[in-house]
This record gives sequence, structure tokens and C-alpha cells, in this order.
Amino acid sequence: MENELQRIREEAQKKLAAMQEECDLNALQQQLFGKAGELTAILRTMGKLGKEERAQLGANVNKLKQELEAAMEERRAEFKRRAQELRFEKEALDVTEAGVSPVAMGHLHPMTKTYRTIRDALIGMGFQVFDGPEIELDDNNFTLLNLPLDHPARDMQDTFYINDKVLLRTHTSPCEIRALQNFKPPFRFLMPGRVFRVDEVDASHSPVFMQIEGFVVDKNLNLANLKGTLDAFIRAVFGENVKTRLRPSYFPFTEPSAELDMSCTICGGKGCRVCKGTGWIEILGCGMTNPHELENCGLDPKEWSAFAFGVGVDRVTSLKYGISDIRYEYENDARFLTQF
Ligand SMILES: [Zn+2]
Repeated sequence: MENELQRIREEAQKKLAAMQEECDLNALQQQLFGKAGELTAILRTMGKLGKEERAQLGANVNKLKQELEAAMEERRAEFKRRAQELRFEKEALDVTEAGVSPVAMGHLHPMTKTYRTIRDALIGMGFQVFDGPEIELDDNNFTLLNLPLDHPARDMQDTFYINDKVLLRTHTSPCEIRALQNFKPPFRFLMPGRVFRVDEVDASHSPVFMQIEGFVVDKNLNLANLKGTLDAFIRAVFGENVKTRLRPSYFPFTEPSAELDMSCTICGGKGCRVCKGTGWIEILGCGMTNPHELENCGLDPKEWSAFAFGVGVDRVTSLKYGISDIRYEYENDARFLTQF
């Protein structure tokens, strides 16, 4: 009988050592301790034994039972631990692993690119950025810029009034007044920002658009300084081969006033649809600051001189990128914007 117990012990230990799955433990349990189990069968034979033998066998069977149950429990715990390790391995997240698809990157709006090109060109020429409010006093937008109440250029139809004295600025020129009132000349400012006009939206008009004003105040400035500044500025934005010319014009706040044309960047001056066959494209308005404006801000026009120019960021963007309709520039259509 002792041999039989030893055989059961060795066989069970072998099975436990080779076991791959937790459910096999249950099968082994049945094989040993179930109704038809091997140890159960041995216990059944005990009735035929003498008292001493029975006690001895009972003790040995119990000892083996405890021993095997402990071994099986240990194995069960091992299976549990292994299962948990596998789950952790499967659920592990490697945060350094490369993504499955590339992340779409945003990019700058073509108007922002144009603005930055212009801004950087002017900063390179010694200009500083000056910011003014979009909601302005009528005085700064018109009166102090030499546009008194009865001036014909001051068309009520074009202006968004908030009340008699306050409006949405129609140009960036009121920044000139704020600069003159707050800074001691000489200075060079570039004044960017949105401006507002009562306008129907079409291919070349928008009720809100972006302008950049350049304003230089110093002693002994003349038209040649203005032309030289604009030449350098236009070349920095459009390239070295672009030619410019001044054409007489009229603005109430400059005297003399001019429009600056540049040679057509599409046809190089030969004549095309964009320049209407002339080889020239109108790019900005400019002039020597009207002495009245300097006087209105407390500067002596005999001592101080100034010039100014204003350029539409949408217009420059249209020319730089060949965009035929400014609505594309102000509407945020991704199909359009992703082309830049
Ligand atoms: Zn052309």
C-alpha cells in the first residue's frame, strides 16, 4: 500500500510540473479526490484492515492529501499570476511608439504670410509696429487728418458710425494722429490693422479689410525719400526686378499725393489680362503728409516733415499668389487655404 501511495504522489507531482492550464488542475483534483478518485479508492479499502494498519494508512493518506492539495494550490496561484502578467503585457501602452497616420499640421493663412513679409521688410528699414484701436473717434479718423465736417471726401455713406463722435475706423491713418500725439519725432511706424467701410461684398470689395500704413516723421523729408522707401519696400516684398513709378493723385491728408504703380509681376511689364495690357499695376496710395495734419497735432510744419503710405494686405496677397477674388481671402474655405 505504501508503494501505491508513493506511485500516486510521484505521478501527481509529474502532472503538476508539466501542467499548462488551470483547468487541468480540476481534472487532477477529480482524479485524486473525486468519487472515483485514486485516494478515495484507497480509503474505501480501509474497512478490511486491522485497527493499527487502518490508523497508519489513514495518517499516510491524510499526509499525502495535504501535501498534494498544497502543491495544487501553489500551482493555481502561479497560473493566476501568469494570467495577470499576460494581461498587463497585452494592455501595455508604449507612449514612444510612432502613430499609425501622420497628424495634419496647420499652416499660416496667405494673408498672415503677406502681412509678415511686409512687416519684416519695414522693420528691416527701421520701422516699429504701432497698434491703434478699431473703434475710433471721428476726430482722429477725419477732422485732425484735414477732413473737416463739410469735406466732400468724408462720405457718410462709406462709414459705420457708432454715434456722432465714434465710428469704426475707415483707414489706418488715425494711427498717425495717435503717434503724433504720443511720441516725440523723429520716428518711423508701421501701423497694421482691420479697417471698415460700408461696401457690398464682391470680387474686389469687402466691408472689412486689412491695411498697413507706413508713417515717417523727421526733418527735411522730401518726395525722393518717400520714393526710395517705397522702392526698397516693394522689392523686398515682390522681388528685385520689380520697377515702380509714382502717379499724381489726391488724398486730403497728403500734399502732394500719389499712387504707386509697380511693373506687372505676371507679364513682367509686357501687358496681360491682370494689368489690363498696360504693364503696370496700382499697388498703394502715398504722399507727403499735409502740413495741416502736423499743425493739428502741435508740430511746426516748418521744422518737421512727414510722409505716409497705405497698402491693402488683401491686394498684395492677390498679386503675390495670383488670387482673382478677395472673398477667398476673407472666407475660411479649407479647400482654398490648404493650397498655400
Ligand atoms: Zn501684366
